[in-house]
Amino acid sequence: MSMRLQGRKAVVTGAASGIGAAVAARLAADGAQVFTADIQGEVDFVADLTGTDANTRLVAKANARMGGLDIVVPCAGISTFHPLEGHDDAYFQRVLDVNLIAVFRLVREAAAHLKAHGAGRIVTIGSTTSTYGDEGLCAYSASKHAVLGLTKSIAAELGPFGVTATCVQPGAIDTPMTAPAFDQMPEYRTFWEGKAPLRRLGKPEDIADVVAFLCSEDARFVSGHGLWVDGGAMVRH
Ligand code: NAP
Repeated sequence: MSMRLQGRKAVVTGAASGIGAAVAARLAADGAQVFTADIQGEVDFVADLTGTDANTRLVAKANARMGGLDIVVPCAGISTFHPLEGHDDAYFQRVLDVNLIAVFRLVREAAAHLKAHGAGRIVTIGSTTSTYGDEGLCAYSASKHAVLGLTKSIAAELGPFGVTATCVQPGAIDTPMTAPAFDQMPEYRTFWEGKAPLRRLGKPEDIADVVAFLCSEDARFVSGHGLWVDGGAMVRH
């Protein structure tokens, strides 16, 4: 495997599980130094990232440990199905706090470091529901549409400093977040497997490999872009 991220310094959130864990492992395998964060688990920084100063502390600790910051990949997120009328205010707000506001704060706090290095990379994790909606996903889809919009505006603002911002939009990926639904509703698994022309659910590594490419020099002219990584599922939408 190439060491194309040798010397690069990355922060990955949601790194105790699923996609975030795979991203942290792949960036490290490509030679990056990786500082990991999550609400629990075997990571460098344990915190609920919705805390008002949590992302400020995270960036300060990562910078102190690594002596700079080139790459930010916020993977922490939550998703559950609730019908519209089951969305109380607190639930809706929590989904926005985790999936959107914490991402915004992390990027804001990291921006000065990314600009200083002249070739920073921000890769947010949206969803195919950053583009489409779905039943039971009002809060989630709203948060993921917003993450895509946030990413585009960050790309516009930080591009002049050599920083790229892209949004990976996974389809149905088999992770601890989705496993309960896939296990309890076999028809849901079959639906998503059949919807993708590649005829399978995604694996966390399918996302991590794309994130690593976007963090690499090879992706230097890719910015402001939402990229479906969904086995082709959305061609049928
Ligand atoms: P996952 O396995 O549940 O991983 C998410 C991680 O984020 C978990 O360790 C979770 O901790 C952590 N987290 C949740 N709230 C947090 C908070 N407030 N502060 C810090 N960490 C927090 O889920 P995943 O499937 O890998 O999802 C990763 C990202 O991909 C999410 O943004 C998700 O929306 C997105 N995505 C996933 C899919 C999919 O099909 N899996 C599709 C599209 C997009 P807990 O386990 O304790 O909550």
